[in-house]
Amino acid sequence: MAEGGALVLFSGGQDSATCLAWALGRFDRVETVGFSYGQRHAVELDCRGPLRDALAGLDGAWAARLGGDHLLSLDSLGQISETALTRPVAIEMGENGLPTSFVPGRNLVFLAYAAALAYRRGLKHLVAGMCETDYSGYPDCRDDTVKAMQVALSLGLDRRLVVDTPLMWRDKAATWALAERLGGAALVELIRERSHSCYLGDRVHHHAWGYGCGTCPACRLRAEGWQRYRAGA
Ligand code: ZN
Repeated sequence: MAEGGALVLFSGGQDSATCLAWALGRFDRVETVGFSYGQRHAVELDCRGPLRDALAGLDGAWAARLGGDHLLSLDSLGQISETALTRPVAIEMGENGLPTSFVPGRNLVFLAYAAALAYRRGLKHLVAGMCETDYSGYPDCRDDTVKAMQVALSLGLDRRLVVDTPLMWRDKAATWALAERLGGAALVELIRERSHSCYLGDRVHHHAWGYGCGTCPACRLRAEGWQRYRAGA
């Protein structure tokens, strides 16, 4: 068991659910934090509680380690972001080569708030699902960005803080495989059914890889990763 406890950035999606399972296998005390920032669809946030409870139900040791959940309101992030996640515009590739779902600096803000909360809660680790391998080009998901934030936060808080990103070098297929390693078929099934990735908030259409519209970038990434994971299984 690693010392110091962990705060998991937990959105209710596939990646953060896998990160939560990873942390529960590694730290004696684990808390979760989510952010509400005027997302067009609150479905992902609605998934968080049931997903947390279901994860704890898989393993008695996990249940014992899982502490409180925190939901922080960051409405001002939606205010300053002209993006497809917070405004009714189409999700597509923008002129800057990034999808219109990009919220500039979102992960920097999330990490800063999570670090302040971890400080207050006496937790030494932040666990976050940023990934440089299979992502949409978001610059604040890059390993160098996260490492720089770890240094800045540790200095600014005058306390050693570690940002763990277990998915950084894993693609979506490898993320499913990691879930299987951490919690077997039961965890894979739980994440498939209960986590939410779709940008359009679709919980109506059901696919082999879970719920979603099937056409937005998040759905396409999830579907493609699932297919490759199943093909390799
Ligand atoms: Zn979708």
